[in-house]
Amino acid sequence: MVKICCIGAGYVGGPTMAVIALKCPSVEVVVVDISVSRIAAWNSEQLPIYEPGLDDVVKHCRGKNLFFSTDVEKHVAEADIIFVSVNTPTKTRGLGAGKAADLTYWESAARMIADVSKSDKIVVEKSTVPVKTAEAIEKILTHNSKGIKYQILSNPEFLAEGTAIKDLLNPDRVLIGGRETPEGKKAIEALASVYGQWVPKDRILATNLWSAELSKLAANAFLAQRISSVNAMSALCEATGADVSQVAHSVGTDSRIGPKFLNASVGFGGSCFQKDILNLVYICECNGLPEVANYWKQVIQINDYQKSRFVNRVVSSMFNTVSGKKIAVLGFAFKKDTGDTRETPAIDVCKGLLGDNARLSIYDPQVNEDQIRRDLTLKKFDWDHPTHLQPMSPTSLNQVSVVWDAYEATKDAHGICILTEWDEFKTLDYERIFENMQKPAFVFDGRNIVNTDKLREIGFIVYSIGKPLDPWLKDMPAVA
Ligand code: ADP
Repeated sequence: MVKICCIGAGYVGGPTMAVIALKCPSVEVVVVDISVSRIAAWNSEQLPIYEPGLDDVVKHCRGKNLFFSTDVEKHVAEADIIFVSVNTPTKTRGLGAGKAADLTYWESAARMIADVSKSDKIVVEKSTVPVKTAEAIEKILTHNSKGIKYQILSNPEFLAEGTAIKDLLNPDRVLIGGRETPEGKKAIEALASVYGQWVPKDRILATNLWSAELSKLAANAFLAQRISSVNAMSALCEATGADVSQVAHSVGTDSRIGPKFLNASVGFGGSCFQKDILNLVYICECNGLPEVANYWKQVIQINDYQKSRFVNRVVSSMFNTVSGKKIAVLGFAFKKDTGDTRETPAIDVCKGLLGDNARLSIYDPQVNEDQIRRDLTLKKFDWDHPTHLQPMSPTSLNQVSVVWDAYEATKDAHGICILTEWDEFKTLDYERIFENMQKPAFVFDGRNIVNTDKLREIGFIVYSIGKPLDPWLKDMPAVA
């Protein structure tokens, strides 16, 4: 029986290993993590992450060929294939601070593998890492090898949170990078035969190590760039009376461009896009390519601009002040169908509104109060460095309440900001909500999910990103 061990039971490691266990009954999969509480959650009824379909897969395999354990060394020692899916945060200090990836977790995982291994291993990079990390890991392993042979593979994960199980079951492609030596090719084949249990052969791509590492950064940079492109257009649409949905649809019908991932919004979030682009920028700078670095930096700048533009629009529409006004925030996760709040645009929008002294009432169906309060006290990049956290309690947090119902959140509010595209926000009883709000009642739709005409008929003043402006908003001061 082939034994697989995955180091890191996070958003990537957990779902990926669950699907491998489901599709390869003859493979034993053990997911290990140093976090006792995380492993306990994976072994409980309440999994540590929310993903549609994940519960069923885990329940089906757990205890049969899927295990979760804190006994990291034992399972690493026993495995034939070791996936490394630990966090690779952005460095907050030292060389490359604010841009470069912090490989501390990776390096300590590699040294531990070298310490405990007694047989040959295939070590697979699963977490996103900078180009050439595999080479560094290879050096750590081979210099401490005690005669054991290691093959390093790069197998970046392309799943999207919210659709992780669907993506894993039916991936666009599986990418495996390895050394172009006979041993390297054999290792690629061994991993390809695992995926080959359910992924068609023509979707399993083999490349060299560096292409695989760079492909992951490039794919995320391209995706984020599409969002920033359509968001940049949304600002121009508002200024000219064009409708960003119509523009995006027209643009997307060009088969060279394609229709997906062209929705204008308050901005992208998630643990990967910004981090991977910063990483890419740093690699470009280190390689003497400042023009390329600046090109990609602009994708992040437009994303920041989009968030502050949204806050400015809220404040300027409401007579240039939200001080003391109750604003309902519907949605906090960075997108629907996940409870993940890492880098969610809601953090910057809420901080912006709190900066203008608003009172916020926040509701998200999958994010609890502790998480929201923690996120609102974090500094940039803190979220990815749980061990560095300083306890902070800014007084503005007294202005925040977190509730478990959209109607409660909107009661007596002056305005509503929709920041996550949860389906349930499309079908709320907006007449009831309108009745219970202060007047004039505003809706700022950061995801373009509400029916603008219907809401205007009810009496709301509605702002939708990139759409022709409400006559009310046209008369308000220009937005920077
Ligand atoms: P991702 O979104 O990439 O899956 P996460 O932060 O959700 O990242 O998960 C990474 C996991 O890796 C965390 O649960 C962390 O505790 C774990 N981890 C980090 N370093 C080690 C290590 N040396 N050994 C075992 N687990 C580790």
